[in-house]
Amino acid sequence: MSQHMQSFETVIVGGGIYGASLAYELSSLGRQVLLLEAGEIASGASGGPGERGVRANNRDIRELPVVSLSIDRWQEFQDAFEGGVGYRRVGGLQVFDQPYGLREHEIRGRLEARAAIQTALGTPTRILTRDEVVEIEPEMTRSIIGGVYCPNDGVGDHTFATRQFAKAAEAKGATIRTGARVVKLNAANGRIRSISLADGEEIGVGEKIFLLANAGAPALLAEHIAGELLPPTWNLMPQMMYVTNPENRTIKHLLSHAHRRLAIKQLPDGTIMLSGGVSVTHKEGRVDTGSLSSTAINLTDSIMTLPFLDRSQFMQVDATRVDTNALDDIPIIDNPAHLPNLFYGYAWSGHGFAISLGFTKLFADWSQTGEKPELLEPFSPARFHLPAPVKAAPRRMAMSA
Ligand SMILES: Cc1cc2nc3c(=O)[nH]c(=O)nc-3n(C[C@H](O)[C@H](O)[C@H](O)COP(=O)(O)OP(=O)(O)OC[C@H]3O[C@@H](n4cnc5c(N)ncnc54)[C@H](O)[C@@H]3O)c2cc1C
Repeated sequence: MSQHMQSFETVIVGGGIYGASLAYELSSLGRQVLLLEAGEIASGASGGPGERGVRANNRDIRELPVVSLSIDRWQEFQDAFEGGVGYRRVGGLQVFDQPYGLREHEIRGRLEARAAIQTALGTPTRILTRDEVVEIEPEMTRSIIGGVYCPNDGVGDHTFATRQFAKAAEAKGATIRTGARVVKLNAANGRIRSISLADGEEIGVGEKIFLLANAGAPALLAEHIAGELLPPTWNLMPQMMYVTNPENRTIKHLLSHAHRRLAIKQLPDGTIMLSGGVSVTHKEGRVDTGSLSSTAINLTDSIMTLPFLDRSQFMQVDATRVDTNALDDIPIIDNPAHLPNLFYGYAWSGHGFAISLGFTKLFADWSQTGEKPELLEPFSPARFHLPAPVKAAPRRMAMSA
């Protein structure tokens, strides 16, 4: 380590929603924070046009406690920050019909189970009849048979939110450097001692380093984390489409469909944004603007759900943003035993925005107390090579006769 090298107590790599909101959390706790971002703030998955769904509905049940914490924080920061964080709690509505090959009782059984479990884990969820759906979302096709309603779900302007957190972190004393690509984490004596930037500069890591670089994370980890501890992940580029709203119709909720790959939201300017999990191929270094097949699938599913969309005009398709994916569609979060000052999280699997403020609150708690929060356990990479621990069920009280 050079004598003149600048050092920071906490170094965060990545200026997306994770890096920016953690920088805010930690600098609010009085930590000395340096955030390094290769491009601009929000130049990765946390940037780009439109809004992101801030959704607890239909997530892996291991994520539910964290997402409910996150959704509380979205509202808190919306209220607390001057200008808010671009969050709107519009409610989430997932509709369902009866696709070929499934029976209605199977569909209802699954959705009722989901509603009960989500409610128990902090996300109030109700099953609606078709008439109740149409009453709250009048443009909905009448061919559905019901809906799942989550009043706390909503939408967020991801680019604005990320920039707001970065700005607020700076106001709390964090140093933010953009155009600063980290090319190497330098380890010595069982710790990450410094990082090297692409221009050759080296910066000291005083206490902890959080690697929150999403698609940039696996390459930086590969040198330090061997084989099975670094599970395979891949990149995906979800496709977003924007269409006009010539008849000034109103979509009130964050809409999705139980059997169609679909998410629909109305942006504050009236434009309608169509997405929902149809991705295009990710090629390193190439900016993609979508593909005909994913456009066709997404438009068809949207029009089948909201028939008036057939009269909209096509405006834009964007598939320029990259997220990382794990095999079980939940993130990978760890603090490796052989490098105890390194913390990392990625593989948000296409739905990391909504849950981000829950995870960064837990990262901040972990950083402060040194104790890993229990809610983070399910996200350990150990799940890919060790059997899951069996949690003892609480003993039932003896039933009286
Ligand atoms: C098109 C699209 C739609 C999505 N829709 C939703 C949605 O509706 N709801 C939802 O919850 N989630 C959604 N997601 C997922 C969500 O946006 C991401 O999971 C989340 O934004 C990830 O945040 P991040 O901070 O980890 O990553 P990013 O925003 O990608 O930030 C990582 C940053 O690290 C920087 N970086 C990378 N390598 C280096 C390096 N070596 N040195 C320095 N900096 C580096 C990058 O430039 C980048 O800015 C969507 C994702 C995409 C792509």
